[in-house]
Amino acid sequence: MDLRDTPQQAAFRKDVRSWLAANLPEHWGTPAFEEPTDADDRVEFLKTWQRTMFEGGWAGLDWPAEYGGRGIGIIENMIFYEEYAAANAPNMINISVGPSLVGPTLIAAGTDAQKQRFLEPILSGGEVWCQGFSEPNAGSDLAALTTRGEIRGDEIVVTGQKIWTSFAKQSDWCILVVRTDPDAPKHKGLSFLLVDMRSPGITIRPLREMTGEAWFNEVFFDEVRVPKDLLVGELNKGWNVVMTTLAHERGSSAQHGRLGREIGALIALAKRTVRGGKRAADDPAIRQKIADFLAHVMILKMTAYRSASEIERTGVPGPEGSTLKLLWSELDQRVKDTAIELLGEQGLVPEGDPLSVEDGYWQHELLWSRAATIYAGTSEIQRNIIAQRVLGLPR
Ligand SMILES: Cc1cc2nc3c(=O)[nH]c(=O)nc-3n(C[C@H](O)[C@H](O)[C@H](O)COP(=O)(O)OP(=O)(O)OC[C@H]3O[C@@H](n4cnc5c(N)ncnc54)[C@H](O)[C@@H]3O)c2cc1C
Repeated sequence: MDLRDTPQQAAFRKDVRSWLAANLPEHWGTPAFEEPTDADDRVEFLKTWQRTMFEGGWAGLDWPAEYGGRGIGIIENMIFYEEYAAANAPNMINISVGPSLVGPTLIAAGTDAQKQRFLEPILSGGEVWCQGFSEPNAGSDLAALTTRGEIRGDEIVVTGQKIWTSFAKQSDWCILVVRTDPDAPKHKGLSFLLVDMRSPGITIRPLREMTGEAWFNEVFFDEVRVPKDLLVGELNKGWNVVMTTLAHERGSSAQHGRLGREIGALIALAKRTVRGGKRAADDPAIRQKIADFLAHVMILKMTAYRSASEIERTGVPGPEGSTLKLLWSELDQRVKDTAIELLGEQGLVPEGDPLSVEDGYWQHELLWSRAATIYAGTSEIQRNIIAQRVLGLPR
């Protein structure tokens, strides 16, 4: 496989780079720009940025043109994310459920009316979505979920509880999986719904994470009435729709760009940090660690490109998504662990404290990096998938 850009890809890369340079918010990336930290303000900021990308023709690049995207190939999409990471453009995580999960799921399994109603506001940043899958006793084993959906006339009436629902408080809509046939085997009685988060009967209770933020929520449903036309796919066949959503969640593949930039920041930190009278960057043990990280970023990039060409050939994300997820999430943690090792006791000083280094950036990142080996399938689950579906080992 040739990893160099074709002339068309090089031209596309140049377009992305120059559009970002011209359109990122004023003073972006300098101390003069203060990124909102409050979750509500951050969502508003990201909605505005999403609208800017939409108006510039840079939203939903891999969505088909008939749904407002550009229908570009998976390699071009990866080039976009490499350039996006290199420019350190805004992290869209707070509003990403809509464009990266709900949009592709509706394009694959939604009705025409659902596509018509929901796709444009997702792309333009008009409506924010959350993902109501996990429950207190159903995470890795998602099909064990017990939130009920009772059919009553033209409605499905939902009662139960979801947990770890990121950004539920700031969301307009939710993709919700409920059990509509309690007597069927566990994967067979589920249905996939689109739920208005302002419906009567929904209570949202924020949960505080160890970073100090409250992105997560518990969401309680008490007799919430959902019109039947907001069912995606067939009644009791929601598991197929869930699989489509999860394939998109694990298939995201351009983490090498982001990690490459973070290792650049780690190198800068090692150059500034003096330990035992010497620069940390001159310590052979630290140099070797950083070189190992950079080698892993290259492995990640090549695996991402290999996986992308495979998806381009077959049209379906395969189990390679698990290899990528495992690689990037565990590498991310090692990078953050090393930054804290370099900082020594200063690594314990949180953001907001005058003694903190880079306003506690690395400390915050170390804590946040723990999440990545849990969400979108834990590392143990990814290892199971690789063992069974890539290596062909027995269950
Ligand atoms: C930052 C973050 C954001 C999230 N956002 C959302 C969201 O928006 N919406 C949503 O629905 N969910 C969300 N989640 C929840 C996430 O999907 C679950 O945490 C995840 O699926 C794991 O489920 P669990 O927490 O119930 O752990 P469990 O499934 O109970 O797992 C506990 C431990 O047992 C291990 N384990 C479980 N089964 C096996 C097995 N078969 N083999 C080997 N080991 C196993 C796991 O690896 C883990 O170490 C989020 C989680 C995080 C951390």
